[in-house]
Amino acid sequence: MVIASIVAASVVAERSAQSIWGITMLETMFDLAQRVYDNSIPEPNSGCVIYLGFLDRDGYGKITPKRKSTLKRFPRMAHRVTYEAERGPIPEGLTLDHQCKVACCCNPYHTEPATFGDNAMRGNGPAAKNARKTRCKRGHPLSGVNLFINVNGARICKECRNIYQRQRLGLKNPRVTYACSAD
Ligand SMILES: [Zn+2]
Ligand SMILES: [Zn+2]
Repeated sequence: MVIASIVAASVVAERSAQSIWGITMLETMFDLAQRVYDNSIPEPNSGCVIYLGFLDRDGYGKITPKRKSTLKRFPRMAHRVTYEAERGPIPEGLTLDHQCKVACCCNPYHTEPATFGDNAMRGNGPAAKNARKTRCKRGHPLSGVNLFINVNGARICKECRNIYQRQRLGLKNPRVTYACSAD
């Protein structure tokens, strides 16, 4: 009777997991995550879990579910697998951003869900660097009355545009129209 109730309790536990996520997916994600961990070494100082398996050209770990798996057999991002196994499903359409900036790190607590834009803007790509600029190449502020956004969404310095247009028209002594030093 006691055994029966334990069995019944475990069935209930499985059912509740299934109703939350889908028990087959849960288990295979765990298996997959275990393979990621088996193929990783911890980095004691940062806490990063360095994946030693296949890395794609961006440096992210990849792992493919085994042939006999309930998951579809295509390569997964290793850091997404460990996140899903340990912390739950990633909201649809979101990427995982590495807070530790180590792309091959599979520590699920080193990543946070982010929109692609957030992720790209926090990195060191040209778009991200440009988006963080607060001054133009001549040092005028890229804000307030001096800022112009063109049809492509690019941020244009009005002061520089003014200088450029005056040079183009052959005018001397480009007039300073915006008090840039007051920024
Ligand atoms: Zn890390
Ligand atoms: Zn400027």
